[in-house]
Amino acid sequence: MKIIMLGAPGAGKGTQAKMIAEKYRVPHVSTGDIFRANIKNGTELGMEAKKYMDQGLLVPDELTVKILLDRVAQPDCADGYVLDGFPRNIPQAEVLDKALSELGEKIDYAIDVDVPDENIVRRMSGRRACLSCGATYHIEHIPPKKEGICDKCGQPLVLRDDDKPETVQNRLKVYHEQTQPLIDFYTAKGVLRTVDGTKSMEDVFASIVEILG
Ligand code: AMP
Repeated sequence: MKIIMLGAPGAGKGTQAKMIAEKYRVPHVSTGDIFRANIKNGTELGMEAKKYMDQGLLVPDELTVKILLDRVAQPDCADGYVLDGFPRNIPQAEVLDKALSELGEKIDYAIDVDVPDENIVRRMSGRRACLSCGATYHIEHIPPKKEGICDKCGQPLVLRDDDKPETVQNRLKVYHEQTQPLIDFYTAKGVLRTVDGTKSMEDVFASIVEILG
């Protein structure tokens, strides 16, 4: 099963993607996580990506597309995957579509986690991330057991640079201009499903499970 998660930054699609990956036993493929791992390891790709990420801008397609196609060509992706954060614009969606159709494959579902802009900025300022293992939390909705410390690896939690309010505004602008058109793109393909992302994490997941079966 090949699934794409759509939705504004902070809509909760990453959390849902991880839950889908666990229940349906498919890899969770997040381009944002791949970039962050590269930044942490000080790679050239990481240094380049950081320039854009810190401003809330999209990393150029030349860098992003190759990384994603390499990742989904790995053996663990043979039976499907859940893509979180890719595609982010129509050209990326077209490249993915072409690569899949060359293999006689297609995306099964594009799930749009729908949350109005008003909720987003408030939500994102409460997000906390572990830069060490990639776990994410929310100070109100998914708090760690011990404040400021990752449950999984014990490292300190931080507000990611790209979750800071000024960057969030930019990310929302980029989302509306570049990513939202994907809703029409996947509607035309008959695979778009929308869930109400303002509900609790569990309720959103229940709606997704109803769709995926
Ligand atoms: P995310 O963790 O998905 O919210 O991604 C964090 C940041 O990484 C984004 O704001 C972009 O700067 C960059 N990024 C992640 N995925 C992509 C993508 N598919 N295309 C371009 N930039 C991306």
